[in-house]
Amino acid sequence: MSAPEPFQAIVVGGGLVGSAIAWGLAREGLRCVLLDEGDIAFRASRGNFGLVWAQSKGQGAPHYQRWTRYSANAWPELARELADAVGADVGLHQPGGVHLCLSDKEMADRSDRMAQMAREAGNSLPFHYRMIEATELREMLPALGPTVVGASFTPYDGHVDPLRLLHALHRAFTGAGGVYVPNAKVERSDAAPRDFRVMAAGRVFEAPRVVLAAGLGNAALAPEFGLSAPVRPQQGQVLVTERVAPIFTMPTTSVRQTMQGSLLLGDSVAEVGYDISQKPAVMAEIAKRAVLSFPFIARLNMVRAWSALRIMPKDGVAIYDQSEKYPGAFTANCHSGVTLAGAHARLLAPMIAAGQLDGMLDPFSARRFDVRDAA
Ligand SMILES: Cc1cc2nc3c(=O)[nH]c(=O)nc-3n(C[C@H](O)[C@H](O)[C@H](O)COP(=O)(O)OP(=O)(O)OC[C@H]3O[C@@H](n4cnc5c(N)ncnc54)[C@H](O)[C@@H]3O)c2cc1C
Repeated sequence: MSAPEPFQAIVVGGGLVGSAIAWGLAREGLRCVLLDEGDIAFRASRGNFGLVWAQSKGQGAPHYQRWTRYSANAWPELARELADAVGADVGLHQPGGVHLCLSDKEMADRSDRMAQMAREAGNSLPFHYRMIEATELREMLPALGPTVVGASFTPYDGHVDPLRLLHALHRAFTGAGGVYVPNAKVERSDAAPRDFRVMAAGRVFEAPRVVLAAGLGNAALAPEFGLSAPVRPQQGQVLVTERVAPIFTMPTTSVRQTMQGSLLLGDSVAEVGYDISQKPAVMAEIAKRAVLSFPFIARLNMVRAWSALRIMPKDGVAIYDQSEKYPGAFTANCHSGVTLAGAHARLLAPMIAAGQLDGMLDPFSARRFDVRDAA
């Protein structure tokens, strides 16, 4: 092992979560190293759908709804900063978004869900939404199929190019003096309060702060730092069509048009463990729903498809925590790393730089799981 390399912060995991935090720490003036295992790890950041999506986040967990809304609000500024820092266009388009309903039952369920979100939001950060009937929706999205009965709309939503985002965060981070070390799986570590030593790629890194943002890798790393990260893999699949002329004015939860013109079709959820094989039955279901929503999609060629694993906390709500045993150690885990990039870079990173998470993040602590099941 070489001599320890001193930093002010070590971030483990160079996906969207770690990169947004690392860039935020570098912006705060901290000398920071970002360690990433590399292409052999599961990496949700390279296989996601690219939505900045607030309308369905935080039902039953108003703190999560608020945090997501803060992030959606922070997104335009994040995109501007990345453009200024490295000239990157991450393709942010945030005109609001719709969740399509293909039956009266879906419409009624969605309406109930939106009403609950609005009730839980209260008056401090009101949740504005509209249920839109098919006739009006057709004026907003002319290619809509006859099966669609309506949609929910919220003005907070949008989409980006997630690969451009990841690349821009890395470049902004290194441009601000950060050190990015790829192919560096953290295998060993020593933890003491505000004094951490992490071994990776034959090198030793030391710092008074460490941030665990290793996605599914956090579950194994967290206990070494007096933390816990109960996350599991949840598979999602995405289909990609050939490019078409611009046709969508806004993204939907299951179909969106990229900057380059391709349509991404997705929205599947499967509990299959660490399995990233594609499932034809799921792909068929995604395609069927997309064609019912927008019949012209039936004429398009599919050019690509993939599956990837979400990082799903036990109860679906993000986990942010600081170690009581080893102050200076933090963890961040979520299944909406695109949406939450604004909050991670602009709100969470300054808290970590200051050495203490704000009380607003208390409900996100993994300590919420330290209760026995009533059953
Ligand atoms: C199909 C699908 C669709 C999605 N759609 C959306 C969406 O529309 N909007 C949205 O907001 N979110 C979406 N997500 C979720 C989003 O992609 C994730 O929340 C986000 O990518 C998580 O980023 P992460 O950095 O935590 O994890 P990852 O991307 O998994 O990155 C973790 C990194 O940690 C590294 N690592 C792991 N272990 C170690 C170790 N021991 N040492 C060093 N490095 C390590 C890995 O190499 C990896 O690069 C989607 C996810 C999927 C799968």
